[in-house]
Amino acid sequence: MLTDYHMHLQPDGVGPRAAAAPRWDADGGHLSAGWIGRYVARARSRGVGEIAVTEHVYRFAAARDWLANDFWRQESTEDVDAYVDAVTAARASGLPVLVGIEMDWLADRRDEIGAFLDGRPFDVVLGSVHFLDGHAIDDPTDPDRDRRLPVAELWSRYLEELVAAARSGLYDVMSHPDLPKVFGRRIPPDMDNLLDDAVAAIAETGVAVECSSAGLRKPVGELYPEPSLLARFRRAGVPVTLSSDAHSPEDVARDYPTAVAALRGAGYETITRFAGREPSQVELRWA
Ligand SMILES: [Zn+2]
Ligand SMILES: [Zn+2]
Repeated sequence: MLTDYHMHLQPDGVGPRAAAAPRWDADGGHLSAGWIGRYVARARSRGVGEIAVTEHVYRFAAARDWLANDFWRQESTEDVDAYVDAVTAARASGLPVLVGIEMDWLADRRDEIGAFLDGRPFDVVLGSVHFLDGHAIDDPTDPDRDRRLPVAELWSRYLEELVAAARSGLYDVMSHPDLPKVFGRRIPPDMDNLLDDAVAAIAETGVAVECSSAGLRKPVGELYPEPSLLARFRRAGVPVTLSSDAHSPEDVARDYPTAVAALRGAGYETITRFAGREPSQVELRWA
């Protein structure tokens, strides 16, 4: 089977969200079974049998104080329990939907992250490093993003945080593991050994990584992780999930032929499913 284990019910940002709102309002809101059903329908039309909705933790008021960042504070307005209840209800109505969350790694908030996850019925928790020094490294609207950190420091800091997140025990899957390349700032060739070190460290933790088609829609124009890095994860025995990081129904399972071919090329024959944060392997194949 194929799955899509990373998606959002709304776009990021106050403006894009307002522009998109009439679409889900017509279905009864972004938490309605009708709107979630559109994600399922798109998944099915692309041969995908199960999805996980994984809203950003910064969408929720409960995380509002975790980071002093204007974007984060503007985004964090919603009730996480209403979200969990809505996705749970969609599943109870028969939709093949898991309750997930894309949980930012913030090294100084590990207690808050743990408390947030405890006692909520998540099926899968994605671990993402988006923020370094309080700034999002993947923000296309940040005019200073390329000046803030030299490329060598961007990658060394990022990989350090990614490994720390994997080792924290808080996560099931590391998202978009080579995210700093999003605008074309690739890791310098003489730092390639840092990727090997990160792959080995992640392999030791048992955490999965995702193969995400989202990078194909970004300026870098390639999968996360790119195929040769995916092959390194495979050789190290790291399990994998498959995802689109859709922020609207149209992008669910987008570009999956490319992602599935990359997984096969890397040697993967199975992908990881989750239920109640318990992983299992299923054969990687079109339905
Ligand atoms: Zn992300
Ligand atoms: Zn995401």
